[in-house]
Amino acid sequence: MANVIVIGAQWGDEGKGKITDLLSRSADVVVRYQGGVNAGHTIVVKGQTFKLHLIPSGILYPKTDCIIGSGTVIDPQVLITELEQLKKVNISTDNLFISETAHVTMPYHRMIDKASEERRGSHKIGTTGRGIGPTYADKSERTGIRMLDLMDSQQLQEQLEWTINYKNIILEKLYNLPPLDPKQVIDEYLGYAERLRPFVVDASLKIYNAIQRRRNILFEGAQGTLLDLDHGTYPYVTSSNPVAGGACVGTGLGPTMIDRVIGVSKAYTTRVGEGPFPTELDGEIGELLCDRGAEFGTTTGRKRRCGWFDAVIGRYAVRINGLDCLAITKLDVLDELEEIEVCVAYEIDGVNCENFPSSAKKFSSCRPIYKTLPGWKQPTGNCRSWSDLPRQAQDYLKYLEELMEVPIAIVSLGPSRDQTIILEDPIHGPKRTLLHADGSPASLLTA
Ligand code: GDP
Repeated sequence: MANVIVIGAQWGDEGKGKITDLLSRSADVVVRYQGGVNAGHTIVVKGQTFKLHLIPSGILYPKTDCIIGSGTVIDPQVLITELEQLKKVNISTDNLFISETAHVTMPYHRMIDKASEERRGSHKIGTTGRGIGPTYADKSERTGIRMLDLMDSQQLQEQLEWTINYKNIILEKLYNLPPLDPKQVIDEYLGYAERLRPFVVDASLKIYNAIQRRRNILFEGAQGTLLDLDHGTYPYVTSSNPVAGGACVGTGLGPTMIDRVIGVSKAYTTRVGEGPFPTELDGEIGELLCDRGAEFGTTTGRKRRCGWFDAVIGRYAVRINGLDCLAITKLDVLDELEEIEVCVAYEIDGVNCENFPSSAKKFSSCRPIYKTLPGWKQPTGNCRSWSDLPRQAQDYLKYLEELMEVPIAIVSLGPSRDQTIILEDPIHGPKRTLLHADGSPASLLTA
């Protein structure tokens, strides 16, 4: 039995969908613990593409229970559309469960999200405009609506009448927007409540019971470490905690029940929206990575900014999440390159720095220090084992592992399940070792 957290080790979109899908095979329960419909996973199974925003990717396995935890925020309209889409392709959602304490996104959240982002002008943070930030803000302000409230029609009416009147002042006076009709919103949401009622449970208890029955639980992070509200590149961050610690808070489970943390990272770096990005490539190579990697957001369709692999943020992700091992995705995207750069440190105000700076000002002024490695200039999409990989690709992976000081357990070379090389058992394989007995950095890739 193992309870495993899978997180994004960069700015999100690392290909977590594919990795969690692979790991879901041996999981009995898959849990989402933060974020909302601002996340998006693309999973390709037998040539069919699934784009999921809220429902954990484990739903594609009929025997796996899927739980949307208390740390998430739920837009019922989007969730219902997702349920309908799965129904159309005969994928059962009988094994889906939603935490009764997850917060609900309301129309005023979406309106405020878009209007406030517009108001920010040059200070905009690049939100997806789906109302996620304002839903979390209401949670902190203690004016949020939870799934529990949605299930209780009288409570919902009382709460919404008050809240909508309060939000209407903000909509009208601050943003010059038309007010919402409380009755209309209440009727709409009572309809959603009936559709979602069968799924709503005490999720913390359900997960705890599963652990007691020695089930394997997979906690699926959305977004990535650098987008974490507390530990990311603030203020260009999401409004929840994608880091591994967020899995405990966002499910109602104690940290002693977690066995392993796996980080997912691309073989290069991407970032969506605003904010500093030291290894960003503006020119031809950036375009090549974007084209070959199909770097367009699952949720918004926004073009992702592309750059070289950044080992400074990689090491930071190892530290913040306590990673045991890594899954490196999209190695195939680098196939055509003559040379590949890896950022090993930053130069900030003339001083070399190997650690991620918390200050946004410092981060935006840092200059990446690169090590150049030779490319392999041949396709890797059909490689199925370590020995199939070109020597330069092996050297590249070994170098990343050395820099990050954690073993690489999985290498992904394409969107399909079979385009994957498993180097170590990611769940039961050796735990992270920082140093060999002789004091040198640990590296499990000895081939
Ligand atoms: P997530 O949010 O971290 O799951 O990332 P996304 O699903 O938004 O983006 C990952 C995209 O890359 C999806 O379209 C995947 O099908 C695709 N993908 C995943 N792994 C690989 C890989 O190793 N190579 C290539 N070329 N594409 C991949």
